[in-house]
Amino acid sequence: MIVAGGGIGGLATALTLHQIGVPCLVLEAVREMRPLGVGINLQPNAVRELGDLGIAEADLDRVGLPAKEWALVGLNGNDIYSEPRGRLAGYGWPQYAVHRGRFHLLLYQALVARAGPGAVRLGSRVTGYRKNTDGGISALVEGAGGATSEVAGRLLIGADGIHSAIRAQMHPAQPPIHWGGAIMWRGTTWAKPIRSGASFVGLGTHRHRMVFYPISHPDPATGLSMINWIAEVTVDSSEGWKQSGWFRPVATSVFAHHFANWIWDWLDVPALIRGADGAFENPMIDRDPVPTWRDGPVALLGDAAHAMYPTGSNGGSQAIVDARILGAAMVEHGVTPEALAAYDAKLCGPVSQLVLRNRGAGPFGLLNLVDERCGGTFNNIDDVIPPRERADFMAAYKAAAGFAIESLNKAPRTIPDGALAPC
Ligand SMILES: Cc1cc2nc3c(=O)[nH]c(=O)nc-3n(C[C@H](O)[C@H](O)[C@H](O)COP(=O)(O)OP(=O)(O)OC[C@H]3O[C@@H](n4cnc5c(N)ncnc54)[C@H](O)[C@@H]3O)c2cc1C
Repeated sequence: MIVAGGGIGGLATALTLHQIGVPCLVLEAVREMRPLGVGINLQPNAVRELGDLGIAEADLDRVGLPAKEWALVGLNGNDIYSEPRGRLAGYGWPQYAVHRGRFHLLLYQALVARAGPGAVRLGSRVTGYRKNTDGGISALVEGAGGATSEVAGRLLIGADGIHSAIRAQMHPAQPPIHWGGAIMWRGTTWAKPIRSGASFVGLGTHRHRMVFYPISHPDPATGLSMINWIAEVTVDSSEGWKQSGWFRPVATSVFAHHFANWIWDWLDVPALIRGADGAFENPMIDRDPVPTWRDGPVALLGDAAHAMYPTGSNGGSQAIVDARILGAAMVEHGVTPEALAAYDAKLCGPVSQLVLRNRGAGPFGLLNLVDERCGGTFNNIDDVIPPRERADFMAAYKAAAGFAIESLNKAPRTIPDGALAPC
């Protein structure tokens, strides 16, 4: 099997294929794996799958920490909504807040340790695919020096991210990337964690907010954790994204003024921003869903299939779940196009709905309601959105995102222990 792209989705796929006895080669464009990115969340459904893959909580504790709380706070510092997360909420598995780059390297090292260094071919950009007359597939590859070659296999998984070349070939008429006007600036700062010590906090309004959460256990000597933060403003997007590139390093002075007076006795946002080494600017983008992720022996996975707004903190988690559902389909149908069809039938529809739901603000939709009903200023949130309405809103989101507590806890393993794909 060939996997195009060695990000979180591609590596989770390769680890799953190794577990079920399917030989696989990952073709990754970058020449060197480096710990890129800042914070991401791994929801309990993904942590469960990682455990089944032999990536234990002790491993995750080296690259992050279990999240304890998810909270929305208004600009006056008053709580809008808060709830426990992970085991504290009743899940059988924790939610982890991790450093994306360090988690990515953890997966890479696990794959190389299990399947050998030849499992990932770096410096290999997949530019497209060609279906072969024997029913197999060839990935068209451009090497780091520009030389082209082909790699043949039975199936090809396009896990090559939001700018996927495989998706572009599969859906040549797909619209360009969708940007709704939100610009995110992301960074990390060593600081004292607030609230529970492992709280995800969304602070502000629908169009002007700050999200932050720790992604490391506190340093025992200083008590400081690495705090991941995302400063976000929404602007008029009618003229499209004008900057070059979708993820670029910027000085914090580019955006710090938007948050200049965001100071409370429990939080100093300007100091948080000042304390960072630098930041990355990236517009909040996704892609319009496509009707299928499959073309014969080729299937899309992870962001290539369903790039979504990060409002639900589930892009990375869904990529891991995709890999496991794909593995389960192969245990049932073998390394065949039918397995890809079963995977596509199970996920493409519901996850596409989730993409659109996240575009509508995901769980941050409560902030829209606060904006609409009181312009973002309130004394007692119960007067603006009654507790029942807040709870129902969040429950509906979680059910749609696949992390409803009861159904996840009751669900059998996605891939039974020791299961292998038939040859
Ligand atoms: C460098 C980087 C930094 C990120 N930082 C953050 C972050 O801070 N916070 C956050 O929430 N999300 C971040 N993300 C996105 C997040 O990792 C994904 O949304 C999620 O994990 C789904 O992963 P994925 O494997 O589907 O896609 P990705 O993580 O995008 O991985 C795709 C992989 O495919 C490779 N690739 C791309 N094109 C080709 C090609 N044509 N041929 C071969 N290989 C190719 C890329 O180099 C990459 O390794 C980042 C992604 C990247 C690539």
